[in-house]
Amino acid sequence: VEVACLDLEGVLVPEVWIGVTETMGIEALRATTRDIPDYGQLMRQRLEILDQNGIGLSQIQAVIAEMGPLEGAREFLDWLRENYQVVILSDTFYQFATPLMRQLGWPFLLCHHLQTDGAGHITGWDLCVPGHKREAVRAFHGLNFKVIAVGDSFNDTGMLGEADTGIFFSAPENVTRDFPGFQTTQDYGALKTAFQEASRKLRES
Ligand SMILES: [Mg+2]
Repeated sequence: VEVACLDLEGVLVPEVWIGVTETMGIEALRATTRDIPDYGQLMRQRLEILDQNGIGLSQIQAVIAEMGPLEGAREFLDWLRENYQVVILSDTFYQFATPLMRQLGWPFLLCHHLQTDGAGHITGWDLCVPGHKREAVRAFHGLNFKVIAVGDSFNDTGMLGEADTGIFFSAPENVTRDFPGFQTTQDYGALKTAFQEASRKLRES
């Protein structure tokens, strides 16, 4: 049995910060790691904007719950969990992911954690170890498992490279251009086929 490591945002659910930006109409929140590569600086800016607009964790969670998973994600994930041991490796936070995990049937998720005060304001965050996606794949290899990994962006390439098979799902062209070594898929049907093909090759080798 192989371990399937999946990114969350862009693979099973929409981009959370973009959804929050659009629903709440706060353009300043639209910045991503593409605009501000320093993650700590980006997060501090986001928390400042939330504070200025008086937005607490529960309001964000309500927006995220309405977003729901991507169309067909639940069915794909259910199929995957019947055939693989599935782990979701994400750079989101547990408090953001919870409403979506409920809709996905509570899969195993490793991500970061937000700090909040008694009034429900987000005051900071605790990160997993740096490169936790790649480190998780390494750990599974240490346990003698083969790993098939799926992601859609630059923060997944360490994980995809460390896995026995790395697959892009619905990745932007600037990402796939920089990493031409990984197979690309655009929909869950193609992703399912890619998994079956990867398993067959891993079992033959
Ligand atoms: Mg992603």
